[in-house]
Amino acid sequence: MTKTRFAPSPTGYLHIGNLRSALFAYLIAKHDEGEFILRIEDTDKSKTMIGAEERIYNLLNTFQLTYDEGPNKEIGSTEYIQSKRLDIYKSYAEKLLKKGEAYYCFCDKKTLNTQRMKASEEKQNFLYEDPCRIIGIEEAKNRVLAGESYTIRQKMPKTGQTSFRDLVYGDITFDNNTLEDQILIKSDGFPTYNFANVIDDCLMDITHVTRGCEYLSSMPKYLLLYDALNFPRPEFVHLPLVKTKEKGTLEKRNKEDDLIDLLNQGFLPSAIINYIAFLGWNPKNNQEFFTIEELIREFDISKITKRPCCYDLKKLEWYNKHYISMMNDQDYINFTRPYLENVYNLKDKTEEWINNLLLLFKHHLHFGSEIALVSNLFFRETIILDKKCINYLRSDEIIPSVLKTFKEEIENCFDWNLQNIEEILKRVETKTNSTKEKTYMPIRIVVTGLNYGRELSKILFLLGQQTIIKRLQNSIGMY
Ligand code: GLU
Repeated sequence: MTKTRFAPSPTGYLHIGNLRSALFAYLIAKHDEGEFILRIEDTDKSKTMIGAEERIYNLLNTFQLTYDEGPNKEIGSTEYIQSKRLDIYKSYAEKLLKKGEAYYCFCDKKTLNTQRMKASEEKQNFLYEDPCRIIGIEEAKNRVLAGESYTIRQKMPKTGQTSFRDLVYGDITFDNNTLEDQILIKSDGFPTYNFANVIDDCLMDITHVTRGCEYLSSMPKYLLLYDALNFPRPEFVHLPLVKTKEKGTLEKRNKEDDLIDLLNQGFLPSAIINYIAFLGWNPKNNQEFFTIEELIREFDISKITKRPCCYDLKKLEWYNKHYISMMNDQDYINFTRPYLENVYNLKDKTEEWINNLLLLFKHHLHFGSEIALVSNLFFRETIILDKKCINYLRSDEIIPSVLKTFKEEIENCFDWNLQNIEEILKRVETKTNSTKEKTYMPIRIVVTGLNYGRELSKILFLLGQQTIIKRLQNSIGMY
């Protein structure tokens, strides 16, 4: 049975790239009716961030990427949080020590780092020749017992090559003489990522290791571990890099890249999922909108692309706009209203007015909080006209008479409804012998401050007579 995992480290915020890894692992498993598991990789204590683990659970929950196994869904006695599995890693390190494939290393980290830095300053390749490699096991054990600080390293072969086939990137070969003896257990007793991920992927029966291609260069280290531990190799699926147009890579420690911000701004999980499915996958047809069920059906590893892909907020907005406009009216109202309430005082507005205002923009919003921006014209005290608008108002001598006639019509309207407003607009056009454009545009500019926008009659209806008259009066002298 196909089994994949999402294995985040709780070291920061979660960004689009992290969600993409989770989604692709989920889709690979579900496409084959297999299982998707969650594993928390918290073995780097120095980088662990408070609240990050919670964010992982919330993320998977929000995007409905339900895991079959994971924290709180343990199978048997298996733990899915690495810091609670230290004994397991230790026992495997001991196996390798016994087989002579690993050794205790007592080298001082500082000396090692100095050597490494010196080499990098001199632009030399640094390959640490560890003197501890030849210390006999008995002597090493005595030093450990005596309380000396140590790490456990794997002996890497000095010759030969290590090869594998990645299901996305194809056949890859590495020369072993480029590899240092890798640390398996750090001096704090925690395993390295390299060691823990190999053991866990094997013990958790992962069939397809799916992760970002930044891990490709470490593949020989993992492969040599699979071999040393006599573990069968799983399939490897490395995913192309996700970049942003503006600043290149996404960063977990960067609050600006936090996915939660997108949700807070009113991007819908379904739209985000649909969009990020395309970050490194191509259905090879023209279909752009996919439900999660369709993605599960269509997703195929052979359609994962290699080239780095670009996270484009504009494209995500395009998807989101589509998903917002597909909502039913009531859901849409419930979704957008909080964003309006957050910014404007709605106390003296009726429910009907609020709903009509929200619905006016239903097919035009790119994200929920945009409602506050686009409806600003309904709440502002004064309208400020920019140069372009003023020039328009001065562009034709018919315009003052259009605005004057419109004002009179509005003042004499005693039944404020959409139909009457539409009739007023038509009457102004006929009375002033104007065109539709020369009637609608000046009115729009004067009452909204914009030369574009939603249906004029609906805007007028929502603005109300008093506001319209006030804005018409205030504009006198500008044209
Ligand atoms: N724990 C790693 C991270 O958060 C993921 C590694 C993996 O998927 O194998 O970057």
